Amino acid sequence: MLSEIGREAYARGWALGTSGNLSAVVGLDPLRIAITPSGVDKGRLAPEQILEIDGDARPVRGSGRPSDEAAIHLAVVRARNAGAVLHTHSVWSTLLSESCAPAGGIAIHGYEMLKGLEGVRTHDHREWLPIVENRQDWSGGAPSVRAALEAHPDAHGLLLRGHGLYTWGRDLGQARRHLEVLEFLLEVRGRFRAAPQAAEKEA
Ligand SMILES: [Zn+2]
Repeated sequence: MLSEIGREAYARGWALGTSGNLSAVVGLDPLRIAITPSGVDKGRLAPEQILEIDGDARPVRGSGRPSDEAAIHLAVVRARNAGAVLHTHSVWSTLLSESCAPAGGIAIHGYEMLKGLEGVRTHDHREWLPIVENRQDWSGGAPSVRAALEAHPDAHGLLLRGHGLYTWGRDLGQARRHLEVLEFLLEVRGRFRAAPQAAEKEA
């Protein structure tokens, strides 16, 4: 299932050039997570490439190296009781996480597709996706990601600046739905900002 979602994310342009990583909880006591290894092509992901790591991001099954961002997956699993965490490097999440970084996040409001997010019943919902500064070393438990998750307990996703999107769900099915909905909404948000009439409407 992780490999299937990886191939799909690649096909939709959300995980090109070996980018992105995907995980699913396979055990809680002790914590065990199935995760895509570092540097693999998501368009050709095979089930046997999936690793299993423990709660300290150490591999316990499979070959290959876990991504440096495994610490982020673990932080999300712990903060949200998530059963699955999906991370993409799409064009729109990359663009908007950079252009909206000065505001600290992206507000999305008024769109019917918001109802695809768990617990959201109306288009009138305001989704706030916090933006966390990008870095290269996430070992040490990703404290900036933990802080953003704590500060925004209702957020269904978060962005790393100039980098991409993280979203999650209670299981892979829900996480996949959140990914699809948030990628759609980010594209709508981005295209709206770029449209000639946006300046007037947003003014
Ligand atoms: Zn990444």
